[in-house]
Amino acid sequence: MPRSYVAEARKRVGPARTRIRPVIERLALEYPDATIALKFRNPLELLVSVMLSAQTTDVNVNRVTATLFDKYRTPEEYLAVPVEELEQDIHATGFFRQKAKSLRGTMQMLLADFDGEVPTTLDELVKLPGVARKTANVVSAELGHAEGIVVDTHVRRLSQRLGFTKQEDPVKIERDLVKLVPRDDWARFPHLLILHGRRVCDARRPRCEDCVVHELCPSSRI
Ligand code: SF4
Repeated sequence: MPRSYVAEARKRVGPARTRIRPVIERLALEYPDATIALKFRNPLELLVSVMLSAQTTDVNVNRVTATLFDKYRTPEEYLAVPVEELEQDIHATGFFRQKAKSLRGTMQMLLADFDGEVPTTLDELVKLPGVARKTANVVSAELGHAEGIVVDTHVRRLSQRLGFTKQEDPVKIERDLVKLVPRDDWARFPHLLILHGRRVCDARRPRCEDCVVHELCPSSRI
């Protein structure tokens, strides 16, 4: 189990339901650039990027896809090469054998069941081989059909510190967040927390003195 930040939320700052909107508004003003870091030009490239991003950085994925997406433009093109060639082309993203297998399975299913198009709903996306709920959440949110809130390590830590959840498990954290965060903000909420987590609310040393939501945060150290 990763480190918990629940116990840091000790200050009295009012109920989460009254703080959530001002927190989102302040973070949105601070990070107008809060969006997905992966580079893609269409839903198929989005899906492939997110699948490749497991266990590696977005920067690394973007480096690989810069050439990958010129070579593979359709599901058929991913299936037209031997699997070893696809493995080689995505090698630098790590876990390349498993990822190549998932990509091929996904391309086959896109052609067989979805007319070669990327589906937009969570239920359909999780049917694709190698597409877990987190991947599906990211893809559906970017395609304008957010059906949940993506919980990664930053979202988990900041939600605990901000007193938006007392849960540890990402699925339970997501359950708390979807009750709290207005639906229109489900897609951008994780991006805001991720940027704030990277730039200010560091895991070991949060820079509360530079934090735009410190008066609203029960874990503030100032
Ligand atoms: S940096 Fe901001 S959000 Fe993080 S603990 Fe400090 S006051 Fe809270």
